[in-house]
Amino acid sequence: MRDQIVVVGGGLAGSMAACVLGRAGHAVTLIDPHETYPPDFRCEKIEAGHMDVLRRTGLAESVIQAATHTDRLWIARFGRVVDKTPFEQYGMAYERLVNTIRGQIPVCVPIRRSWVTAIEPDGDHQRVILSEGEAITARLVVLACGLNWTLRESLGMVRDLVSPCHSITLGFDLAPRAGGAFPFNALQYNPERAGDGMAYLTLFRMDAAMRANLFLYQSLKSPWIREFRANPTETLERLLPSLQRIAGDYDVLGPIKVRPTDLHVVRNVERSGIVLIGDAFATPCPATGTGTLKVFTDVDRLCNVHIPNWLATPGMRVEKIRAFYDDPVKRACDADSVARAHRLRALSVGEGPAWQARHWLRFVARRLRWTIRSLLSIGRAHPAS
Ligand SMILES: Cc1cc2nc3c(=O)[nH]c(=O)nc-3n(C[C@H](O)[C@H](O)[C@H](O)COP(=O)(O)OP(=O)(O)OC[C@H]3O[C@@H](n4cnc5c(N)ncnc54)[C@H](O)[C@@H]3O)c2cc1C
Repeated sequence: MRDQIVVVGGGLAGSMAACVLGRAGHAVTLIDPHETYPPDFRCEKIEAGHMDVLRRTGLAESVIQAATHTDRLWIARFGRVVDKTPFEQYGMAYERLVNTIRGQIPVCVPIRRSWVTAIEPDGDHQRVILSEGEAITARLVVLACGLNWTLRESLGMVRDLVSPCHSITLGFDLAPRAGGAFPFNALQYNPERAGDGMAYLTLFRMDAAMRANLFLYQSLKSPWIREFRANPTETLERLLPSLQRIAGDYDVLGPIKVRPTDLHVVRNVERSGIVLIGDAFATPCPATGTGTLKVFTDVDRLCNVHIPNWLATPGMRVEKIRAFYDDPVKRACDADSVARAHRLRALSVGEGPAWQARHWLRFVARRLRWTIRSLLSIGRAHPAS
């Protein structure tokens, strides 16, 4: 079987790429072992700014329809609300996000339910070997296999572990103990004390539930995580003693998901006819919320800009592939993601007066911004006659 493009991996990046390329009329096949993307604790909300990039792929409307939209974010520091800011975000379980996008893949794109076990260069074409032994030949392989390292390793790529267990993400639901609803639809709650190794807690609506993502800088074996699994409500109350002032009494509802993230980049990636996107190219820190932006940017630049150029002339030499990795928009997005990951960690793990000073500075800045915005909106509501 011979195709122009084979996409390996039907997570967020691969499903989007297959959809955009299929809609553009390219002969593309998507390969993934799962007919439907299974439940997976990954990205659970998308910000409006990221939606703007998603719009360029033509997929934003279907994602928005499947998500729970909120348009205002409360921000709390040291147990006090310091801002109530207009901020659009869209909450949705990762599997729903991926399966919604898969639902948009045109019927002309075959989806093969299989594992790719090897990719073999074959002149101007690549042979993609499936677990059943069948080979598909393609001019271009888009490798969107996420964190699965085997294929990249077999191609001689090198993985640099930039920061092992850089952060830990916990996912759970939160419900008011007395029933009813919280006074907010979305809240970002920052740490109350130095030394807790916490980035922030984000609460946002996902269907009828209030979903919580807690980002920590701790070891996966830390006693705190063990305690949280055993007594989640009491342990969260001890970590954030003033959260009740804003949220009232609450209960943590399971199941509790705990997921560590290593930051890595892959070197020696340039190969004729093979291009890496999404987490397969570099993992983001979930606390920065830049993973989906990286995926959307990769898909937009690769499928809307580079692949149409590449297919217009014969061959798929490494110079073509390099143009994608050198793309200034992609490079800026990747660099920003890495910088944010290190900045947020440095801000969060500090101790003593330096930590206090940085966080109080942010407290004052945010409070000031809110006050100025409130005064301006009062001024607009009552213009001087
Ligand atoms: C806990 C957590 C929370 C996160 N929160 C956020 C957030 O709030 N905001 C944000 O922007 N980002 C967040 N991220 C990051 C974001 O989820 C990822 O960057 C994004 O999901 C990467 O998508 P992907 O398509 O590259 O990888 P994946 O979704 O992992 O897809 C990889 C696919 O490849 C398939 N595959 C693998 N090997 C093979 C093979 N050999 N043959 C065929 N198929 C194969 C797999 O089955 C899978 O379907 C979070 C990540 C985690 C872990």
